[in-house]
Amino acid sequence: MRILIAEDDPISRRLLEVTLGKWGYEVMSCPDGESAWAMLQQPGAPSLAILDWMMPGMDGLQVCREVRQMMTEPYTYMLLLPAKSQKADIIAGLEAGADDYLTKPFDASELRMRLRAGRRILDLQAELIFVREELRTQATHDSLTRLLNRAATCDILQRELERAEREQLPLSIILADIDFFKRINDTYGHLAGDAVLRETSQNMKAVVRPYDGIGRYGGEEFLLVLPGCDNEGAATLAERIRESIESNPLALAEGIIPITLSLGVASNDITQNMEGLIGAADAALYRAKNNGRNRVEIAAHTDTLEDGVLTFPLSPSSG
Ligand SMILES: [Mg+2]
Repeated sequence: MRILIAEDDPISRRLLEVTLGKWGYEVMSCPDGESAWAMLQQPGAPSLAILDWMMPGMDGLQVCREVRQMMTEPYTYMLLLPAKSQKADIIAGLEAGADDYLTKPFDASELRMRLRAGRRILDLQAELIFVREELRTQATHDSLTRLLNRAATCDILQRELERAEREQLPLSIILADIDFFKRINDTYGHLAGDAVLRETSQNMKAVVRPYDGIGRYGGEEFLLVLPGCDNEGAATLAERIRESIESNPLALAEGIIPITLSLGVASNDITQNMEGLIGAADAALYRAKNNGRNRVEIAAHTDTLEDGVLTFPLSPSSG
């Protein structure tokens, strides 16, 4: 584990370096508070710091204050080293954000135990962050396909629509639906159906650009948000997705399952309204289904009304 030592007295600093090195720490050290504060702000900085209180310039207390004010994550565990005469100021030190303190001169084995306690806190902190990130992922992602879920995809679309309007940029969406998905489920079973959804998601993700949004919009329906992409670019991308899916049938123990997609493309040149845009893509998707499936259709102005109300019925449930 990496640890930072800030201590202005060269002999004490050297002693700490050697001792901590012996205990297995990877030691970084500096002679003043300014350097400590600069080092703690670097990416990958040590999360454990021993700070001498009395240092010329910025003292240990000020470093604690800066760290707590400016840095929230990852957590830095700070052990302050006051001199005996400063014992009365300890409360100020803890208020400034120090996690613990050890009055000089101190016993090496006590320091070792205090650092061990600090590491326990840091481990717990890391675990909490991991769990929180996991929950965040669960709240915004579809557990089966690992794509964004519907709400998160719509959030992205709304944000990108506003940005595109502000910056006068094109934006397109693609609504894609797996053809005859119900038949796949009925023929090969639901586990095979799940595998088809996962495989299709992965294949689509491999085709789109890294900054495109891609989410599971409904059962076997996917919504792609393509910032900066006009109608023509989106149609080309949709065609590439269609080809990729068609040329990658899924091989399972149950047999080779052919997969095809029908896709509807709509761009913000026909409407800036989110519901209107999705409605237009849905109308185009509906046409792709009616015109034989495994194809791309592009929404026209006639697919929307000014207020964003649909002029077409929803996609056929027959798949
Ligand atoms: Mg000092």
